[in-house]
Amino acid sequence: MIQEQEVHAAEMERTFIAIKPDGVQRGLIAEIISRFERKGFKLVAVKLVVPSKEFAQKHYHDLKERPFFNGLCDFLSSGPVLAMVWEGEGVIKYGRKLIGATDPQKSEPGTIRGDLAVVVGRNIIHGSDGLETAKDEINLWFKPEELVSYTSNAQKWVYGVN
Ligand code: UDP
Ligand code: MG
Repeated sequence: MIQEQEVHAAEMERTFIAIKPDGVQRGLIAEIISRFERKGFKLVAVKLVVPSKEFAQKHYHDLKERPFFNGLCDFLSSGPVLAMVWEGEGVIKYGRKLIGATDPQKSEPGTIRGDLAVVVGRNIIHGSDGLETAKDEINLWFKPEELVSYTSNAQKWVYGVN
């Protein structure tokens, strides 16, 4: 008797992930991409950009009342940022888990910030914190045509869908 394989209906979502200038300068691009890739998430857009200070202010607009806002925007615009969009089931929430707590002193070992960063002002990576912010951030950083549509050969093995 042929047993039917369980078909998993994957609910895909997308998140915006950026390696900040400290992560780029420290040579951590491959290490960070590798963690998302090995997990089974799919890269749908990537580019290296130096954002203007105005652009950084737009990206962090939610934090404009915070005392660190100006320094944060100066820092984000101080050098190349690797901007990415990753896709997968639960990628927004799980992406944040891979990244770890905002303050690397509180990030668990095994997370990106826990393993690779020490202070909150140089925590090497950004990840969207919810569905709406993910949409807004993807729209801010990427034009629709920069999001690449393709079938990843790994997906059927990651999700068990034929
Ligand atoms: N940040 C900082 N000092 C703080 C809190 C935050 O410099 O006390 C910086 C830090 O780089 C952080 C960014 O501001 O990643 C955005 O803050 P948020 O609370 O959104 O943290 P995240 O979502 O990046 O974990
Ligand atoms: Mg945030």
